[in-house]
Amino acid sequence: MVSTEQGTRMAARCAACGGEAVRSVGQFLCDGGRTLAWNAESFCPGCGDAQCEHSGPEPTPQDVREALLTAHGPARLRLAAPLGDPVAALRALREGTGASPLRARELLNELREFGLAGTAVEMAFWRVRLAERGVGAEVEEGFGRAYRYVGPPELREAGGAPGTPVRTAGEFAAWAGTVGVAEEPFTFVVDLGGALRLAPRRSEHVACAGGEPVMGAGEIGFQVAAGGWEVAAVSNQSTGYCPDLVSWPAVAAALERIGLPHPGGFTDDVDGVSGQNARVRGGQAGWM
Ligand SMILES: [Zn+2]
Repeated sequence: MVSTEQGTRMAARCAACGGEAVRSVGQFLCDGGRTLAWNAESFCPGCGDAQCEHSGPEPTPQDVREALLTAHGPARLRLAAPLGDPVAALRALREGTGASPLRARELLNELREFGLAGTAVEMAFWRVRLAERGVGAEVEEGFGRAYRYVGPPELREAGGAPGTPVRTAGEFAAWAGTVGVAEEPFTFVVDLGGALRLAPRRSEHVACAGGEPVMGAGEIGFQVAAGGWEVAAVSNQSTGYCPDLVSWPAVAAALERIGLPHPGGFTDDVDGVSGQNARVRGGQAGWM
């Protein structure tokens, strides 16, 4: 079952009385699945004021997208079979976004190798667009939680270098070759595509994630064992994302994809070097 509409509710400020209003937001497909649209309306239980903010196409605002990802978790799109005709898929990706040829090619490579990730309705949209061009793809959803960034906005605005994606044993070996891996814990996130992204110690998680929601975030340390590299310690310590213990399966899956043995759960203290206590934390509060 592929979701072609999703909704959730957010808190908002009433424009009429300044009280707390409820903003209902969503994404949906229209035009036979060929158009991705979003909607938002708010209602104030205090004064009864109702506002219709938007309903139709246009790119979905970031806060709406993040609310949907947080409420429903991410979805992924994978090709149903190896690609026969890359041109047809490229055309579908370009038509859907108005993306540059370069960007469409990046999306295509991502789709071919690892799949695309986003909200369920976004993935359903791509599925329709690709099917139109004769390219079969499948949507997977309901496999984990997403955590939006909840830290200071200025840290997100500051940007910074995104983390290095590490999706295969080869990518890990290449990354490990460029850093003093045994020295200290690293900042990590698990992106919505399920990939581990690694950044130098004390990097902001939000920069590591490129500002996007994540499936997991914390600190991680590696060590060399008899069989090669393994995870020595891993935490869910991220004040930017506050992922809870439910994020562990996504972290484990990202590590297993690379073939890295891990402790089987979050460890208490990652950081013997700085003495910071990386205690497992309570987690992010839901919407509303
Ligand atoms: Zn009001």
